[in-house]
Amino acid sequence: MESTTTLAKFREILTPYLNANERKATKMMFYRNRLKSFSSWPFSSTDKCTPENMATAGFYSISKLRNDTSVKCFCCLKELDGWESMDDPWEEHKRHQKDCPYIKLNTVEQQWTLEEWIDLQQAMAVKLLEIRLKSDLENLESQLDMKQNQLQKERRKRRK
Ligand SMILES: [Zn+2]
Repeated sequence: MESTTTLAKFREILTPYLNANERKATKMMFYRNRLKSFSSWPFSSTDKCTPENMATAGFYSISKLRNDTSVKCFCCLKELDGWESMDDPWEEHKRHQKDCPYIKLNTVEQQWTLEEWIDLQQAMAVKLLEIRLKSDLENLESQLDMKQNQLQKERRKRRK
């Protein structure tokens, strides 16, 4: 009962902050959706980085070109590319993002408790917002730089 309340509250707080793309990304929490994204993955069942192993390790494909192996973690949103057939997706994920909440949890979705599910979704939403805030901040900083340059130019003109 309490968990349901927490979930509802969580949705109420975060949903308005996520845009359509970000909400779409939250679908990748589910193994079957991640697996579907690997429809044109270049590795086969004799390789270590099969679509199944990639999806189990939390990754979904974000490649737009043939033979591009760019993937993203649904949870920490880390992007990795340049996969080779004998790369172990779970180990690679752990090596690059040891603090990923999904890697730390170390279980597949069938075994998650509701609480763990909420924690992961929360971590993911926070990460999405973090990325957006960072890019907003960068935009503001560059606008500020431009304004300062303009002001300096105007000041110099006035002095002449
Ligand atoms: Zn991750």
